[in-house]
Amino acid sequence: MTRFSSEVDVAVVGAGAAGIAAARRVAAAKSVSVVVLEARERAGGRTWTMEKNGYPLDLGGEWLHSADRNVLTAIAEGHGFALYHRRPDWTTRIRNSGASLAEQQAWIAARETYRETRHQAACAAEDRPCSALLPPCGRWNTLLNASSTWGNAVELDKISVKDNERYEDSEVNWRVRRGYGALLATLAAPLPIVFGAPVSRIEHRGTDIVIDSARGRVRARKIIVAVPTDILAAEAIAFDPVLPAKLAAADGLPLGLADKLFFSFTGRMDDLDTDGDIFLVGSTTRLETMSYQVRPFGRPIIQCFFGGEFAARMEREGFAAMAAFATDELAALRGGVIRKELTPLAASSWRADPFARGSYSYARPGHADDRAVLAAPIDDRLFFAGEATSPNFFSTVHGAFESGVRAAEEALASLR
Ligand SMILES: Cc1cc2nc3c(=O)[nH]c(=O)nc-3n(C[C@H](O)[C@H](O)[C@H](O)COP(=O)(O)OP(=O)(O)OC[C@H]3O[C@@H](n4cnc5c(N)ncnc54)[C@H](O)[C@@H]3O)c2cc1C
Repeated sequence: MTRFSSEVDVAVVGAGAAGIAAARRVAAAKSVSVVVLEARERAGGRTWTMEKNGYPLDLGGEWLHSADRNVLTAIAEGHGFALYHRRPDWTTRIRNSGASLAEQQAWIAARETYRETRHQAACAAEDRPCSALLPPCGRWNTLLNASSTWGNAVELDKISVKDNERYEDSEVNWRVRRGYGALLATLAAPLPIVFGAPVSRIEHRGTDIVIDSARGRVRARKIIVAVPTDILAAEAIAFDPVLPAKLAAADGLPLGLADKLFFSFTGRMDDLDTDGDIFLVGSTTRLETMSYQVRPFGRPIIQCFFGGEFAARMEREGFAAMAAFATDELAALRGGVIRKELTPLAASSWRADPFARGSYSYARPGHADDRAVLAAPIDDRLFFAGEATSPNFFSTVHGAFESGVRAAEEALASLR
């Protein structure tokens, strides 16, 4: 949109999943005006589908996690987005990478023990880092830690046990054939979004809230702030008066880092699976390793996933270094012939992205309750949304979306 109203009932800052959900809900209410101020030139934030070689690639959010409880499942179907119901068996990663049956069983047992220990530890009065739950010198500790850099985008020593245990996972994971990001872009299309409008200041001293953006000033009665925690914690948006409790909560819930790299792949792995969607892991004994998804949806693609400190190093070293690392790992697993079958297509760099600054939130030990602090309204007119505010579905698209609906309901109730 090129023209927008500079006086509205509700302003939304950020057009990611949370901001889109919030704006949809407010726009559905009769006679309430709304505008969304979005820093980028596109909607969807950390859920972004890029098209390459005719295939949609999700550089960020991809899986409809807990798809049987996911608010976006019905919305996707309602908008004509076909879902892919083949559920990933991530436990086959090590089998496909050459582990013996005994090793596979030992890995599954170690994972179950870890989960049970975490469940018990979450009941204790004192919070601890998840790494405290690992058995000393455990054979599978490194893979548990690497898995954490994929699932939580950070190593186990940095995460709160209590928060990690609060995440709800029904283990039903589906995908959107045209891309999760494409779904969000479709939902955003009819909304009054001002693109290229990074907000720098929110003044909430007077009757109106005054919002300064690169596209001009907006006055609003209510505001829904739906930006990532690292943006808030770094005070990239200045609140006047300052909100110390929000800053502290955002700092307790930093974004970890997970990135993706895509290759076009002319080979096959028929010895492993003929139907596509083969999962591999580069190493079970190195933390610096990648998880691979071969021929997703049966497409001629390999998608590489990597997180934590390793992803930060890969981002610093750049696209060619990422591709070289993945090619070497795949060649070690599948033989040198694979080198000729791979062409690098695209990669994400979410830490370097100024409007994300990371991938998804985790709670530092002792900070599990910060999610509720971050979500709480201020003066019945400043409302907060975003994946980090979700009590049970944080770090996900549907958690962000639900939080946007919640914040919109709060804002609408305060207008009545
Ligand atoms: C690699 C990767 C893989 C993932 N995989 C999955 C997955 O499979 N399934 C899943 O459910 N989730 C996944 N996620 C997480 C999911 O993408 C996020 O949790 C979700 O997209 C966050 O939505 P949000 O609305 O809270 O924040 P965002 O999407 O970050 O939206 C915030 C918006 O605010 C804008 N903004 C920032 N600063 C300003 C400013 N100053 N002024 C105005 N606008 C601003 C941003 O540009 C952005 O559009 C993944 C994420 C990554 C990075």
